[in-house]
Amino acid sequence: MVTILENFSLKGRNTFAVDAKARHFCEIKNEIQLLSLLETQTFQQSCRFFLGGGSNVLFLDDFDGLVINLSNKGIKILESTDEHVLVEVAAGENWHKFVEISLRNKFYGIENLALIPGTIGGAVVQNIGAYGVELKEFLHSVRGINVKSSEFITLANDDCYFGYRTSIFKTKLKGNFFITSAIFKLLKRPKVNLSYNELKQIVRRFPFIKPDPKYVFDQVVRLRQSKLPDIVKFPNAGSFFKNPVIGQEQLEFVKSKFPDVPNYQVDNGWYKIPAGWLIEMTGWKGRRIGNVGTYDKHALVIVNYGVNNGKEILEFAKKIQQEVYEKFNILLETEVEIVS
Ligand SMILES: Cc1cc2nc3c(=O)[nH]c(=O)nc-3n(C[C@H](O)[C@H](O)[C@H](O)COP(=O)(O)OP(=O)(O)OC[C@H]3O[C@@H](n4cnc5c(N)ncnc54)[C@H](O)[C@@H]3O)c2cc1C
Repeated sequence: MVTILENFSLKGRNTFAVDAKARHFCEIKNEIQLLSLLETQTFQQSCRFFLGGGSNVLFLDDFDGLVINLSNKGIKILESTDEHVLVEVAAGENWHKFVEISLRNKFYGIENLALIPGTIGGAVVQNIGAYGVELKEFLHSVRGINVKSSEFITLANDDCYFGYRTSIFKTKLKGNFFITSAIFKLLKRPKVNLSYNELKQIVRRFPFIKPDPKYVFDQVVRLRQSKLPDIVKFPNAGSFFKNPVIGQEQLEFVKSKFPDVPNYQVDNGWYKIPAGWLIEMTGWKGRRIGNVGTYDKHALVIVNYGVNNGKEILEFAKKIQQEVYEKFNILLETEVEIVS
């Protein structure tokens, strides 16, 4: 049996804390409930949105359909060798909790992704990334249900078509594949990834410390807490825009005005530029219009200082987008999913 609630406020279900209402809302705790939900008329006749922790979404308005939130729990070891471990995690588990549990059990690899809000399901959809690591590097496979056929399917890593903050779940399978769990392949032998400049610098500063995964985890948590706003005090959804990837010619154009533009090569002839830097150079860092503003320590984060409507946040973001475009001829693309 599943309970479908009507006219449900999503304010406590999205980290932007906008007070959008879902016409129907259903919380699913296990696969049996999910199968019964698929048989309901409400499911079959409504437009649907799968919601995890709501940390990467902006609801523009009330949602005239069914919002489904999966809160299934469970972590189990499927296989263990001297080199690696395969761990299956329910999609409704909290991502950071999983990172902590893995480290406590001496399973390594994902410590650079500490403190990212949200669920396992949302993390897979987004192919989350931070401090030089992306989820796809440790993802073995994804289990979920094809809601059209009610069939459970397992997709291997390659079938997920992971890219920069994207996957098949945001493209071809959008709205039709509900992730119920993910299997991660973690390392048994400690190996640290210090490719990210800020981590590298810390290690250079303290050469007498031999960095292990726990040390990397602690540094990532410390850095994130010093830079990012607390979502309870300053509701936000992390980076609002993606870092743009531009070609050589466009990079030369930006360099002609700003010779010190930070950039790094991602592919032959393609360069990533920090969106936060572009926003800062356009004068938007820490700027506020009414109850929406960018965070003063991180220009890429837009904070809701008290609006109930997501449209005001989007209008603010569009102003930034337009000014960055006028100045740099670069169109910023949203990382946050806009739901209307
Ligand atoms: C303060 C802050 C810092 C952040 N830092 C980072 C960062 O460093 N790196 C980074 O990559 N992201 C970051 N984010 C963004 C966000 O935390 C991640 O994208 C997170 O993985 C989203 O998970 P969620 O459960 O909240 O997903 P939601 O926001 O609920 O949903 C995101 C997408 O996943 C889909 N989805 C969710 N669950 C399922 C499911 N079970 N099956 C199918 N589809 C599903 C939704 O439909 C939606 O399309 C940050 C956000 C905040 C607020």
